[in-house]
Amino acid sequence: MCIFCKIIQGEIPSYKVYEDGKVLAILDISQATKGHTLVMPKMHYETIFDLNDEITAHLYQVVQKISKHYQTKIPNLKGLNLLNNNLPKAGQTVPHYHVHVIPRYEDDNLVDMQFTDNSQTVDFNNLLNVIKING
Ligand code: 5GP
Ligand code: ZN
Repeated sequence: MCIFCKIIQGEIPSYKVYEDGKVLAILDISQATKGHTLVMPKMHYETIFDLNDEITAHLYQVVQKISKHYQTKIPNLKGLNLLNNNLPKAGQTVPHYHVHVIPRYEDDNLVDMQFTDNSQTVDFNNLLNVIKING
C-alpha cells in the first residue's frame, strides 16, 4: 500500500494540520521551510490526471483555507508557494496526489524554480491551435 494511504489509515504517524472526511493535510517530513505542508485526498489518486471535479474543487478549497490561515498564524511569513508534482519526470516521488504548501521567509534558503526564457523558439499561434480549450 502507498505510504500516504498508510498515513491516512493511521498505520504511519504524522503531524496532522487539517482533516475532514475527504482531505488530510500533514506536515511534510522534510520541512523544506518551516510549516511545509502536504494536502492530499484521502482516496488514492496518483496524479492531477486522475482527479475528478468534485475532489479537485474541495481539495483546492482546503489548500486556500490553509494558505490564508498560515498567512495570519505563521510569524514572519513573507510569501507562500504552492507546488504539485505529477509523475516522476516532474519530480513526483510519492504516487499519491498531494499539493505542497510552502511558507516562505526572508532567508529561508529554498532554491526558487528558475524559468528559462524560451519564447524565441516557440510558435505561440501553432501552440494555441493544439492546446486551446473551450471555457
Ligand atoms: P513529491 O516529491 O512526491 O512531490 O513529494 C513527496 C513529499 O513527501 C516529499 O516532500 C517528502 O519529504 C514527503 N514525504 C515522504 N515520506 C513521508 C512521510 O512518511 N511522512 C511525511 N510527513 N512526509 C513524507
Ligand atoms: Zn495512496
